[in-house]
Amino acid sequence: MQEAATQPKSLLSGKVELFTESVIREMTRQAMQYGAVNLAQGFPDFPAPREIKESAQEAIAGDVNQYAITWGAKSLRDAISRKMKSSYGLSINPEREITVCCGSTEAMISTLLAVCNAGDEVIIFEPFYENYGPDSILSGAKPRFVKLRPPTSNDAEWSFDERELRAAFHRNTKAIILNTPNNPTGKVFTRSELELIRDLCVEFNVLAITDEIYEHILYDGSEHICIATLDGMRDRTVAINGMSKTYSVTGWRVGWTIASPEITSAIRKVHDFMTVGAPAPLQEAGAVALGLPKSYYEQLAANYLKRRDRLVPALEQAGFRCYLPRGAYYVMTDISAFRSKNDVEFTRFLVKEIGVAAVPGSSFYNDPRDGARQVRFAFCKRDQTLDEAAARLGKLKK
Ligand code: GLN
Repeated sequence: MQEAATQPKSLLSGKVELFTESVIREMTRQAMQYGAVNLAQGFPDFPAPREIKESAQEAIAGDVNQYAITWGAKSLRDAISRKMKSSYGLSINPEREITVCCGSTEAMISTLLAVCNAGDEVIIFEPFYENYGPDSILSGAKPRFVKLRPPTSNDAEWSFDERELRAAFHRNTKAIILNTPNNPTGKVFTRSELELIRDLCVEFNVLAITDEIYEHILYDGSEHICIATLDGMRDRTVAINGMSKTYSVTGWRVGWTIASPEITSAIRKVHDFMTVGAPAPLQEAGAVALGLPKSYYEQLAANYLKRRDRLVPALEQAGFRCYLPRGAYYVMTDISAFRSKNDVEFTRFLVKEIGVAAVPGSSFYNDPRDGARQVRFAFCKRDQTLDEAAARLGKLKK
């Protein structure tokens, strides 16, 4: 008989000890529990476009109900390729360079699993969308954070220190995750910032893994630049995108990666064994969505601008300092004017006593102390939702 080990073996993976459940999604559950207005998780509370919903209904009625090709329905991959050409002038081979996944969330983790080895490092700008930390850990890589510093005046932008970024690159760096337009800051990376990142990627032989899910949600004349279009980056970029934010269908879970054939075949293997494929009828609807005219995207951005400009003054009146976003649909705020001990205590008070759910800033930082004075609000909501939130936030003054 074998002797019992002195230390009972753990039945859990050591990796899962290193991160918590998503705070963003936890805040949605709390909003439901307390009947709060949910400005926490970034999903629209208004309807998705009629023609896209009808295409999905037709696909189901027409019996597109079995697995699509593992790496994506041909119709959708062709539509992605056409859109990359018309938006960015990039020629993407739909047979060898696109993998359709279950949302850009799966696209990101499948990519990291496909490219990372234990001991690799992944550079992440901080504050960051909370998934990237656990994604790196699950793929065996070590995240290394580079700070984005908040603007000091109203016409300034979130910025990073060039020396700090350079110092983060070294032999073991495998990739940099680049989310532009950025969640949670609303920063839109400029061409010169992207050129600097490009130069470092080339010098250190590093991949850029992008999250471009907010590409069409832009304000104040800011321009989205796909880093894959910069010289030297075409085959060193994994561009990730999806339907969720552009077409207001976050629950559909249709996203994709665009990468060189070599990287794509690695991503396809991971994706195949992880999820087999994204929902087939929704991919058909995606092919229709990606063919919508330019006016659709212009209207999308114009509508979000109105929502931003509805929520931000209400937050300012209530006592928040707002960092005006140039893209995406979140506003990061500073809560120094309030008496709360920290962001977590403040958002708990907000959801329970004021009736508005927001995300504590610390969930976007590696060290929670760095986000202790910040709270994020999402404004992808109907006017009446934003007005109700504003009325409730008015109580903070009293
Ligand atoms: N991107 C959204 C946010 O930051 C939510 C994403 C998610 O919960 N999957 O709130």
